[in-house]
Amino acid sequence: MLTGLTIAIIGGDARQLEIIRKLTEQDAQVFLVGFDQLDHGFTGATKLKLSELDFGAVDSIVLPVSGTSADGAVATVFSNEEVVLKQEHLEKTKPHCTIYSGISNDYLEGIAKGSNRRLIKLFERDDIAIYNSIPTVEGAIMMAIQHTDYTIHGSNVMVLGLGRTGMSISRAFSALGARVKVGARASAHLARIMEMGLTPFHIHELGEHVEDTDICINTIPSLILDHAVLSRMTPRTLILDLATRPGGTDFEFAEKQGIKALLAPGLPGIVAPKTAGQIIANVLCNLLSPSTTD
Ligand code: NAP
Repeated sequence: MLTGLTIAIIGGDARQLEIIRKLTEQDAQVFLVGFDQLDHGFTGATKLKLSELDFGAVDSIVLPVSGTSADGAVATVFSNEEVVLKQEHLEKTKPHCTIYSGISNDYLEGIAKGSNRRLIKLFERDDIAIYNSIPTVEGAIMMAIQHTDYTIHGSNVMVLGLGRTGMSISRAFSALGARVKVGARASAHLARIMEMGLTPFHIHELGEHVEDTDICINTIPSLILDHAVLSRMTPRTLILDLATRPGGTDFEFAEKQGIKALLAPGLPGIVAPKTAGQIIANVLCNLLSPSTTD
């Protein structure tokens, strides 16, 4: 239980509703900033404006997955209020106050460091990334179906990267009957790909493997589908780039080559906001729990 903890949830989208639900169920005192247009009322949660929040009483701050913009603005889907988080706000919190965000940027890192408050980037955690790979896979399957006129079954699918997302994508597309090749650079990953019954290749040899690809799914957050590689790809290939913006594809050159290349960020929040919210809420509750050792 989170009895005795005061938590400010500042901004966010539908995923935050699951977090609010879970934190209030666990008996935390929750203040909601940026939720004035939300019809639903949660017992134990109080809606207020940023200027009304008593930062001095706050043990933890929960920001949206996106954190803040480069100038501190916090996205508020359920409000028209312009919410800007500043270092002076964090300085007013209790010294042990922790800020939880999905991802971060220089601004957020700067105000956390400047105020000497701990910032936890939830999306860097293995548990969240692995749980999130489940709705991400479903989103990738949805996009593959929407943008092709053939079945995944029997198609040649190339997955780039065998990290937390790449592994789930490779396994799921293979289970649907695709012939899956996976590009990686670590020898342990190449061994794992072979063990999974898939076809491994070294990422340095990418250009030699793209020609017969129907669907190429990139999870490598680095320019990997560049001019040289795209020149060897056929226009019938569909590229689904899941890597964080700006993705790993030279989109302009892909378009010139007649290759359909789609950047597909934030799939969990699009295809399954409730599940995506529950994933964050469960991990967050564990982290906030006084007994946690993580
Ligand atoms: P991850 O576990 O860190 O995996 C990334 C993989 O990329 C690793 O296997 C890594 O290989 C490889 N890699 C990185 N830089 C490389 C390079 N220069 N050359 C070759 N390989 C390289 O990350 P993840 O959790 O799977 O996430 C992957 C990306 O997808 C991230 O950008 C993440 O933000 C994004 N993502 C997007 C969605 C969505 O909805 N679109 C959902 C979840 C995640 P090594 O291990 O050898 O370094």
